[in-house]
Amino acid sequence: VADARGNRRLWCEAAWLPAGVARGVAIEISGGVISGIRTEVPREAAADAEVVRGLTLPGFANAHSHAFHRALRGRVQRGSGDFFTWRENMYEVAARLSPALYLPLARATFAEMLLAGYTVVGEFHYLHHKVDGAPYPDPNAMGAAIIQAAREAGIRLTLLDTCYLRGGAGIALSDRQRRFGDGDVARWKARVARLVADDTTRIGAAIHSVRAVDAPSIEEIAAWATERGMVLHAHVSEQPAENQQTLAESGCTPMALLDRRGALSPRFTAVHGTHLDAADIALCAAAGAICCFCPTTERDLGDGIGPSKSLSDRGVRLAIGSDQHAVIDPFEELRAIELHERLRSQQRGTHTAATLMKAGTAHGYTSVGWPEGGVIAVGALADLTTVALGGVRLAGTIDGQGWLEAIVFAAGAGDVDMVIVGGETVVRGGRHVTFDVAGELERAIADVYTAGGPQAACTSGR
Ligand SMILES: [Zn+2]
Repeated sequence: VADARGNRRLWCEAAWLPAGVARGVAIEISGGVISGIRTEVPREAAADAEVVRGLTLPGFANAHSHAFHRALRGRVQRGSGDFFTWRENMYEVAARLSPALYLPLARATFAEMLLAGYTVVGEFHYLHHKVDGAPYPDPNAMGAAIIQAAREAGIRLTLLDTCYLRGGAGIALSDRQRRFGDGDVARWKARVARLVADDTTRIGAAIHSVRAVDAPSIEEIAAWATERGMVLHAHVSEQPAENQQTLAESGCTPMALLDRRGALSPRFTAVHGTHLDAADIALCAAAGAICCFCPTTERDLGDGIGPSKSLSDRGVRLAIGSDQHAVIDPFEELRAIELHERLRSQQRGTHTAATLMKAGTAHGYTSVGWPEGGVIAVGALADLTTVALGGVRLAGTIDGQGWLEAIVFAAGAGDVDMVIVGGETVVRGGRHVTFDVAGELERAIADVYTAGGPQAACTSGR
């Protein structure tokens, strides 16, 4: 319940603040930002405030997403193969999309993220052009569809517009990759420069990978992103094959190449980092870069287990992403960082619940270029996610101390009760305030597979 100037007052039964979980937390919101916090406020003393039952957290950041991959969920679990066989399925869906088909698919996917408690998404966007590689009349028609989708769903967005120039060292784009490419960095920059940020949208840059972008182009992109103060993301060492190819082409690892070409900085996020070596991790640490793990994707694709312990030991901040959306659930991503480490090391407790929560919130917000979010503090973005504590998964888990342990290791997306983005409620009672999200997903995905043949994708949309 906001007044005409967008001011709101909440009384939260419990909330996770920088100093820990507090009870009876009165939060004032003004202009989409947290303007006041008081703790140990009795319910009766906040009679005019909205009552929020459960544990209120800063909203989660999904720092790595390809929204259209949601259309693959469940449909690519037949047969066998590896990342590269999965990629063929993904290319088939990519070939079907037009802006008109992508808008409802992205909107429904973003709405699913909100239901799971994500309040900001970094969309790693490389599906730019028509199937034959020619630009749409508006060369940012696909990006515009994603921006509109995020706005209609109510999620905060960083559009990480992704440069994609080649199929590999000395290999041109394949037919299926043609629509990802701008031809060269100059044309990519000219197109990206036309994208417009707004209250809930920021524009970032991405290098698809060292496979897809040659070294001089990496340097040019990094310099341009630095000049403009943009965050810069890249897929790094997701596959051993990528390491081997980079060694053959450049005589070093992908991370070392990115470092030599000026890409590493505190604004840089290495996505995956599954096969980093000790020297790569040292480079990442020295630069103050972030590493974004996507554990549910990495295990789904058979990529491997990333070196989360070594990264954390060197002080590298971690973030999370749902990437290909086999799962959209921040709790599952966070605990997987620790649980995968347990499988590898046969040791428990490498990452604390509080450390994992920071990866899911503050570090993710910083990764996608909203460093003023991901924390419940005065002056921070009013992006909040409340977990109901009375459901079957969490019943009996909280003993008055281990709030975060219970949330990280036992909660699921279905426990999210309320989500606020920029001071506006977008999920209430576990439901999106505008959409029937399951119905929208069903329709949008059916349309991709039925109406959206390659021909339709060639001709439709602006
Ligand atoms: Zn990815």
